[in-house]
Amino acid sequence: MAVREVEDIFAGIVERAKALDPVNTRKWFEKLRVLRLSGGSLEIGCPDEATVAFLRDNCKGSFTRAAQQITGHLVTVDFNVDTHKKTQRRYRRAELELKLHPDYTFENFVVGPSNRLAQASCVAVGQSPGTTYNPLFIYGNSGLGKTHLLHAICFATKKKFNRAVIQLLSCEGFVNRFIKAIKEGDSASFQKQFRSVDMLVIDDVQFLREREQSQEEFFHTFNDLYNNGKQIILSADSLPGRIPSLEKRLISRFNWGLVARIDPPGYETRVAIVQRKAHLRGLSISDGIAEYIAHKVHANIRELEGALTTIYAVTMTTGEEITLELAQTALEGQIGAAAKQINITNIIEVVTDHFDVRLTDLQSKKRNRSITMPRQICMYLARNLTKHSLEEIGGHLGGRDHTTVMHACTKINQVRRSEPQIHALLDELARQITQKPRV
Ligand code: ADP
Ligand code: MG
Repeated sequence: MAVREVEDIFAGIVERAKALDPVNTRKWFEKLRVLRLSGGSLEIGCPDEATVAFLRDNCKGSFTRAAQQITGHLVTVDFNVDTHKKTQRRYRRAELELKLHPDYTFENFVVGPSNRLAQASCVAVGQSPGTTYNPLFIYGNSGLGKTHLLHAICFATKKKFNRAVIQLLSCEGFVNRFIKAIKEGDSASFQKQFRSVDMLVIDDVQFLREREQSQEEFFHTFNDLYNNGKQIILSADSLPGRIPSLEKRLISRFNWGLVARIDPPGYETRVAIVQRKAHLRGLSISDGIAEYIAHKVHANIRELEGALTTIYAVTMTTGEEITLELAQTALEGQIGAAAKQINITNIIEVVTDHFDVRLTDLQSKKRNRSITMPRQICMYLARNLTKHSLEEIGGHLGGRDHTTVMHACTKINQVRRSEPQIHALLDELARQITQKPRV
């Protein structure tokens, strides 16, 4: 086949793969090249290891199906770094271990009042690791960009110091590797692996709770790195001191450097994020649509992306232009469904579990604080997380009338404002409720 012909076929395959899996479609697919298309195999060239990892994890299926549909033959697909470009080869090994998400760069991170401090400190650390803020601790609720920022620091550091040895992993990854090393009686190589890096990045350290042995190991790793001027970067869903069962000595170390919070983005930032995410996928949406999505979805940026994906998927399948009406229809189902998914039973389960009380107690006439508090919290959460009316909520909690539910909501709102601990507890409960698998 002539080169030109192969390239045309490949362009067709990429287009088809996009249509088959809009969720994982990215604008940089344009940069993919065909390295080989022969003998039933298609090798696709990518600019770097991060893209290779992303495509292998997310897009192998869609590209395989696309290749089969376009060529009419069985084709196996693989992705590799396009080694024609010499400079890229140097990064290869380090990034293989790093597994960075290609979208998670500083360029793709929209800065606003809610995340300015966190973003600026991450940029500073990427510029001069080990000297500015050490450790850097980023915290905030789920879906607000912590993982994105951690990856962005790694990208930036790699770019500036291409020989830097970086370890980035989830806290669970750290714990699992540690457990495996102990099982295999190989803790020495585990220690060597983690204590010899220039930058250690651990995402979601709240999962260290109740992992005593791992906390101990982490403590020594931390000290070693810190004393040698190596950079440590951590993220969590709450302040160090609010992570349950985290050892005091770890809490104190986490507070040595800079602790930066990410808040939920305001409206303007949400609009900008929707636009940025649309651009990343090569979608063009009008300001009106971006504003509509930002207006409808506010809890979490992952949901903003979900909304965009839904719209994209609808236009891909129907071939329609993205209009405001189409966005509205596409989203109504989704937004309604998200709200419908949580029911009062989920809420009651989480709350009774946390306070160790029974549902019958909540439904009873008992008025001691150990019962009224969880009862009011149930009402408050039900009001905020479901679409049930005040009457329905009262009905589930012992046939109380709507004024009682209203009073409970006002009361908990007040406490929430005045007591940071309750504030954190309510957030944690809401997190558990929204993440609970539903039947
Ligand atoms: P977290 O780790 O805090 O749960 P993630 O980093 O996984 O959140 O972010 C969820 C999604 O939202 C990701 O796709 C991320 O790219 C996106 N995101 C979060 N904040 C921003 C931002 N400020 N600009 C652009 N995208 C963002
Ligand atoms: Mg994360």
